[in-house]
Amino acid sequence: MNERPSARHLSLDSRLRALFGEKVQKIPLDAGSTCPNRDGVLSTGGCTFCNAEGSGTGQAALSLREQWDAWRERFRRSPRTRHTRLFLGYLQAFTNTYGPASRLRALLDELSALPDLAGACVGTRPDCLDEEKMALMARLPFQEFWLEIGAQSCSNATLARINRHHSAEDTERAVRLAAGFGVPVCLHLMAGLPGESDEDFLQTVRWAATLPIRGVKLHNLYFPKGTVVNAQRLEGRLAPLDQEQYAALAARALTLLPSSVVIHRLCADPAPGELASPSWALDKGGTLHLIRAVLEYNNWWQGKACNCPDQNPFA
Ligand code: SF4
Repeated sequence: MNERPSARHLSLDSRLRALFGEKVQKIPLDAGSTCPNRDGVLSTGGCTFCNAEGSGTGQAALSLREQWDAWRERFRRSPRTRHTRLFLGYLQAFTNTYGPASRLRALLDELSALPDLAGACVGTRPDCLDEEKMALMARLPFQEFWLEIGAQSCSNATLARINRHHSAEDTERAVRLAAGFGVPVCLHLMAGLPGESDEDFLQTVRWAATLPIRGVKLHNLYFPKGTVVNAQRLEGRLAPLDQEQYAALAARALTLLPSSVVIHRLCADPAPGELASPSWALDKGGTLHLIRAVLEYNNWWQGKACNCPDQNPFA
């Protein structure tokens, strides 16, 4: 792409506004799932950055409907979101496609019954997907659906270092399987992982750009309390990226992604109370401002340096 588009990146918010004609708010839900990297099937330790809630909200004691109603009430009380009428249900915590397909079917049925539901997102890891589960998701009646797959890195050495217990090839297989079923994938990629340089992260972004994905979530590694990465930080073995460094990396990453890929997130968003370090990870607005500033300063935009737009079958 040689001409700068009207916005410097394609955000999920702008996509949803275009689809539904109004703001759609995402609601994180905890379906009481677990994870093979937690329950002993692959490991009991989990990924080294994963918090006790499986990167979720810790609300599993409540039904999906109870969580949904509580979140909608919270949004209705906030001056900024009180007019929001439509919501996207996001099964966020742990690995929601783990276990038999019948469990996933029941979860999707429960989601479908939620009021004011515009669509859904299902978070998982790449080795917990198969044809039966893809077929279920491909048949969903939602106008908007995303399968969110944690890939994190294209380096198997890094994946071993963070105790993921899956490979980059697993991610490639899962993404291609989803594409074959027409299930849109949002890939999660993380910057600042142990042992990785800035260039290693950008290599992961280039790799992601060659896959048939429709969305990406960019994360900076942060250090939740009680996690292995935080212990490594306290021992002086690991240090966080600084905010300017991350902003420059995220902006550069955008240039490498096809312009049609929907950017679901530009930086991590720690849950209240979970963060040990770095404190700037709580300054989401500041990080987004810096990313925008880097894009403006360099006259960069999403896709400007991407060589593979034609490989996205959804483009
Ligand atoms: S795969 Fe997800 S839920 Fe499982 S341990 Fe890793 S981050 Fe946590």
